[in-house]
Amino acid sequence: MEQKPFIPFSRPWIDDTEIEAVSEVLASKWISTGARVREFERAFAEYLGVRHAIAVSSCTAALHLSLVVSGIGVGDEVITTPYTFTATAEAIRYVGAKPVFVDIDPETLNIDITKIAPAITSRTKAIMPVHIAGLSCDMDALREICQKHNLVLIDDAAHAIPAEYNGKYIGSLGDLSAFSFYANKNMTTAEGGMITTNNDSLAEPLRTMRLHGIDKDAWARQSGRSIWRYEITTEGYKYNMTDIQAAMGLCQLMKLNKQHERRQNFVQIYQSELAKFPQVSTPFVPDNPAEHAWHLYIIQLHTGNRDDFVESLREANIECSVHYIPLHLFEFYQKQYGYSVGDFPYAEEVFERVISLPLHPGLTESDVHLVIDAIGKILRLR
Ligand SMILES: *Cc1c(COP(=O)(O)O)cnc(C)c1O
Repeated sequence: MEQKPFIPFSRPWIDDTEIEAVSEVLASKWISTGARVREFERAFAEYLGVRHAIAVSSCTAALHLSLVVSGIGVGDEVITTPYTFTATAEAIRYVGAKPVFVDIDPETLNIDITKIAPAITSRTKAIMPVHIAGLSCDMDALREICQKHNLVLIDDAAHAIPAEYNGKYIGSLGDLSAFSFYANKNMTTAEGGMITTNNDSLAEPLRTMRLHGIDKDAWARQSGRSIWRYEITTEGYKYNMTDIQAAMGLCQLMKLNKQHERRQNFVQIYQSELAKFPQVSTPFVPDNPAEHAWHLYIIQLHTGNRDDFVESLREANIECSVHYIPLHLFEFYQKQYGYSVGDFPYAEEVFERVISLPLHPGLTESDVHLVIDAIGKILRLR
């Protein structure tokens, strides 16, 4: 039997530049937070056109600190989507607040803006939208709701680099935005995250909180002596990024536009070729193509069983995934918050049909055609 090439679902886009940059940091012997992190933060903020970027150890940490610095805590409610990775709602629980889910728009897969207002109570303190797959949420509409009800807008931008909204990058439009540099994200530092904000009075405590609440400058201001002295000015967390990660992040940032172009090209091929199969629907494409970062390429299957379909693709040596199992279907969220099957019908309906196809800059056009051919074969066999 002919051996088909294996097509992975996702792979980090790493070459000699990252290997050299990381080796340089190791050789320097300054391996934790230092000059590289500051450089990465400046470059990231400049790229997005936002005043502040605060590097942290993960997007989950970024979401957590964003809630802490916004003063959200026990008894508060945060509105978010059930159609996301658990980290979004997990961070809300870290501060003792309750994730209040609102169903999705089945076309965009993002939170349904029209369903937010009815979910707001006197305890609601923030909205945490997710730009699913990299498709920008309607930030104007979200801002308007937040202004009207005095809520903080913290967007989970784990998928959304580089994604625009009305000509501005996601990351410059919420009160606080949280990015992920996990291994499979559009840019990676293996593990890592970033908080971005235009708000000076949030940025300063965030810089201190992410490393034990230690403020070296505070002591220096008071005394002007003893370099070993430090002050603890605020509650602290161990959420700092290392120079090893930041060195890698700087390289990934340099390649960000190029990887985005590659993703866009593969998406175009998927879109036009898959349109020939009425049994699958392709993802929603915004009028302005810049509004999509194409972290994921999610199709929906309208015939047969999705799990069998994923298995058939695996047999064809093509690795796919499913995003997402809605959070309210998980045992923990049901036990902890009383959610149950049927609460968010669109999220559930979409979940039964979705398949995430391979999409990453390391693919080739012929890989994409192999995936399409395999899908065609499976559909014809049905
Ligand atoms: C990956 C991801 C996260 C978590 O990112 P980490 O950097 O691994 O903490 C959060 N939200 C969404 C939507 C994600 O996909």
